[in-house]
Amino acid sequence: LLLAYEPAKRLAKLQVQMERAAVNAKMIYEILDMQTHQRDKAGAGELVVREAKIEFRNVNFAYTGSGPVLRNLSFVAEGGKTTALVGPSGAGKSTVITLVPRFYDPADGEILIDGQNIADVTKSSLRHHLAYVSQQPYLFEGTIRDNIRYGRPDATDSEIEDAARLANAHDFILSQPMGYDTPVGENGLTLSGGQRQRLSIARALVRNAPILLLDEATSALDTESEAAVQQALEAAMVGRTVIVIAHRLSTVIKADKIIVMQAGQVVEEGTHESLAQRPSGLYARLNNLQAVPSGRDTLQDL
Ligand code: ATP
Repeated sequence: LLLAYEPAKRLAKLQVQMERAAVNAKMIYEILDMQTHQRDKAGAGELVVREAKIEFRNVNFAYTGSGPVLRNLSFVAEGGKTTALVGPSGAGKSTVITLVPRFYDPADGEILIDGQNIADVTKSSLRHHLAYVSQQPYLFEGTIRDNIRYGRPDATDSEIEDAARLANAHDFILSQPMGYDTPVGENGLTLSGGQRQRLSIARALVRNAPILLLDEATSALDTESEAAVQQALEAAMVGRTVIVIAHRLSTVIKADKIIVMQAGQVVEEGTHESLAQRPSGLYARLNNLQAVPSGRDTLQDL
């Protein structure tokens, strides 16, 4: 019980630290249970998730002091399906993902989950249904077990190990000097990029949320880690509504729907087959279908 309480206590401490200093935003996103100081709307109800269908409806958004970042953006991520966001750097893909947990709110337009405007429900009930895997997973000071438990502070040890198994992390964890009790983070053991990613996926899996927000890594891992991470991600995606910022061709090809973004707008949408048939379209250019070198698995950045 004490162990289960530890991450919750650290979350509280972390929150205090964050009030004092600007912290890497990506780290915050990964810890969706963090208390926020933004108040819920008076009378906000609890989000009720059935299919976990997400809909962006005419969303406009700008960061404080910036020009428009999302312009009249509309798309649907169907429940239980994978929707891939692709597009050039700066198109607004990460911004779309940060609006779902309400780290920011749109200037206008609506974001709905199963028909409920996320602005009208409590943030805690919204975030309870979300898990997020970032490109550069953050490891907190603490043990490997603690780091997975950040996904859900009341997870039992056996739930943590099940998540680690599914995330292809259990074997490498057991091979560490103290197994699940091995300290990681700034003063702990240094893990490889692929191992960190698998811990982050285990953290998302232990959360067991119906919606997974995924920022696929761009940095190359060695082939073995790559395969292990890919397998872990596929396990995490099963049966969930996934919105993925896709950098790998293989992810995009497997997606149920591809949303092609440019300058904050949706410029094309469809499946790989349908979009690839439009040779003058942005997707075909990103994909560079005319000249795919064998073995290449990254989208070109225009
Ligand atoms: P990339 O593939 O490079 O991550 P992206 O498609 O995810 O790009 P965003 O990161 O959403 O694009 O950025 C969209 C625009 O918003 C860019 O012009 C970016 O500079 C700006 N932007 C992103 N985050 C912030 C922020 N926190 N404050 C101000 N401007 C931001």
